[in-house]
Amino acid sequence: MLSCPPELSLPGFYAGFKLFRGDYCLMKHSRIGNLARLAALVFFLFPASLLPAQQPRPARRPGVRAENKASAKARPRLVLLIVVDQFRYDYLTRFGDLFSSHGIGLLMRAGASWTETNFDHVPTFTAPGHAVFMTGAWPSQTGIIANEWYERDTGRKVKSVTDDSTQMLAGKPGEKGYGPRRLLCSTVGDELRVADNDRSKVIGISAKNRSAILPAGRRANAAYWFGTDNGNMVSSTYYFNQEPDWVTRFNNRHMADGWFGAHWDRVLPEAEYLRRAGKDDVPWENLDKSSNDTNFFPHVITGGAAKPSKPFYKALDYTPFANDVLVAFAEEAITNERLGNGEDTDVLSVSFSANDYVGHRFGPYSQEAMDMSLRVDRQIGSLLDFIDAHVGLRNTTVVFTADHGASPVPEQAALMNLPGRRYQKAELLKLVEDGLKARYALADRPATDYIQTFTNREETESGLLNSNFYLNRMALKRDGIDLDECERVVGELAMRMPGVARYFTRAQLENNSISSSDPIARRVLHGFYPPRSGDVVVVFEPYNILFDPPDDPTDPRSTATHGSPYSYDTHVPLIIMGPDFASGSYGQAATPADIAPTLAGLLGVQAPSCSVGRVLSEAMVSERHRPGVR
Ligand SMILES: [Zn+2]
Repeated sequence: MLSCPPELSLPGFYAGFKLFRGDYCLMKHSRIGNLARLAALVFFLFPASLLPAQQPRPARRPGVRAENKASAKARPRLVLLIVVDQFRYDYLTRFGDLFSSHGIGLLMRAGASWTETNFDHVPTFTAPGHAVFMTGAWPSQTGIIANEWYERDTGRKVKSVTDDSTQMLAGKPGEKGYGPRRLLCSTVGDELRVADNDRSKVIGISAKNRSAILPAGRRANAAYWFGTDNGNMVSSTYYFNQEPDWVTRFNNRHMADGWFGAHWDRVLPEAEYLRRAGKDDVPWENLDKSSNDTNFFPHVITGGAAKPSKPFYKALDYTPFANDVLVAFAEEAITNERLGNGEDTDVLSVSFSANDYVGHRFGPYSQEAMDMSLRVDRQIGSLLDFIDAHVGLRNTTVVFTADHGASPVPEQAALMNLPGRRYQKAELLKLVEDGLKARYALADRPATDYIQTFTNREETESGLLNSNFYLNRMALKRDGIDLDECERVVGELAMRMPGVARYFTRAQLENNSISSSDPIARRVLHGFYPPRSGDVVVVFEPYNILFDPPDDPTDPRSTATHGSPYSYDTHVPLIIMGPDFASGSYGQAATPADIAPTLAGLLGVQAPSCSVGRVLSEAMVSERHRPGVR
C-alpha cells in the first residue's frame, strides 16, 4: 500500500522543525531512530520528484539564504498567497498522505491548518472568492458578486474585471484589457503600499485574469494571466504602458508550446486512483465534442489543432501543464522583481486555475481531479523550494486556500443515491416567463417583457444569471405593476421547478428582513450588492445544479460545477505557514475573509477598508515560541 509521500527531503527552515517533531510517516514505516540515518536516507534514496520528465525548468541558483538572515523580530519579507482553484477541503484528507514533503504536504505538517473554513456567501464562484482573501470582505462589500453580471446602466453583461479604458499587453493587438476597477475595497497589498509609500511590491499571477487581478488589488504593481490567443503571459495598461522586459523574454521562450501533443497520464500507478477515485472511463464524464479531449487517460493535448494556436492554448488550460507555466513565471517574477529581497514586505499571489478547469470537465470524484491534486502539490513544492533558496521560508508567510469547492457531477450523485439532478438555465427562464404571462397578460398587455434583457457579444439575452432574475422596472411601471409584488411572483414561479429550494427578493434583502441566524439567508445576503445583483435570487436544493451555458460559445459546457451555499462548495483549506504561526490543526470556525485582517495584523498595517474577518489569533505565536527559533 502506498501510504507515504514519495518525496521526503525537507526544505530549509522547516527541516529542523519537522525533524524535531518527527516525520510521522517516515518514522512509522522506516523505523529510523536517529537524525543522521534519516538525513542519509533522504539524501541517497529519494529522487527530487517522481514526476515524469516535463518541460526543462530554469537553472536554479544555489541557496542564498545566508544573505537573507532576517532577525526573528522582522516582519516577513514576502507574503505568498497560494490559491488552488476549486480545491475542496476533502482533497487534503482524501489525498494528503500522497502529497510530497515540499508542497501542500509541507504546509499541512508545518503550517497552522483550520479544518472548518467555509465561505459565507453565494454564489461560490471564482471572482467573488478571489476578492475575499485579501480584502477580508464579502461580495456584498467588494461588489464582486459573480464572475460576470448584468450592468443596468449600460444594459450589457460585464465581467468582474472588465475595464474598457485599458488595453491588453502581450495579448491580442487592440483588444480591450482588464483591471480591478470594479473591486470596491482595498486589499492587504494596497494597504502595504499606501503605508510604505509604494516600496512594497504586489504582484498577482494566474491563468485566469480575475484570479490574478482581484487578490492583488487596485494599487498592485502588476497582474499577469495566461493569454489563450497566443500562449503568452499577458497583462493590461491598467498597470503600465509596456510590460517589463523580463516578461517579454519569458514570452519569447514560448514555453507553453513545448506541451503541444503532450500526453497527460497519471503520476502514480492506476491502482491508487481506482482505490480513491474509482474508474477512469465513466459515462457521466460526458465531454462536449468541442473539448477535443477524451474522458480517460492519457489525455493528448492539441485542442484539435495542427500546431500551437488558440484551440491548443485553451486545451492546455485543462491540463496540469498550465500550472507548470505559472510556477516558471512566478519564479521569474521573484528573481526579476527581487520579491522578498528588500526591507519592505512584498506580496505575491499565485492562483492555479487548471485544477478548476479539470474539475469542471471531470468532476471532483474523478481520476483526473485526483491527479491534478497530486501534481499541484508537487508544483507548489517546486515554488516553495525556489522561495526557500532565494528568499528563505523563514522570511516568508505562506497562505494556502481555495476560492470554492465543487459539487459532484449530478448524474454521478444520483447513481450514489444522493439527490443529484441537472437543470439548464433555459428551463427555469421559460417556466417563469410563461408564468408571468399567465399571471399578468391582458388583451392590451402582453406581459412578455418583464424580465430585463441585456446585450452580450452583440446578442440579446434574458436577465437570468447566477440564479438572479433581473426584472424590467420600466415595463413594470408602464403596466402599473408593483416591483415588490412581481419579485414575489417570480420567486413563487421559480419554486414550481423541482429542485428549487428557496428564493429571496430584493425587498427582503434590502430591508434586512431575513435572519442572519439562517445560514442560507446569510450567505445570500453576503452575496448581494444592490447595484449589481438581480431582483430575485433562487437557491437550489443540495446536489441540484443549474448550469449556465458558457459565455464564450467556443468553450465546452461543464460536466460539474460549483456556486451553491452548501459545504461541498463552501468548505475549503486554509493553511498559514510562517514563523509567526504555530503548526497544528485548528478546529475553530474560520472563513477565507479571516486571511486579510490576520495578515494586516502581522504586517502592522491598516486592515483593508471593508475587512470584516477576524484575526486568527489562536495560531499566532510570540517571539520565544516561534518554531526553530532558539
Ligand atoms: Zn474558481
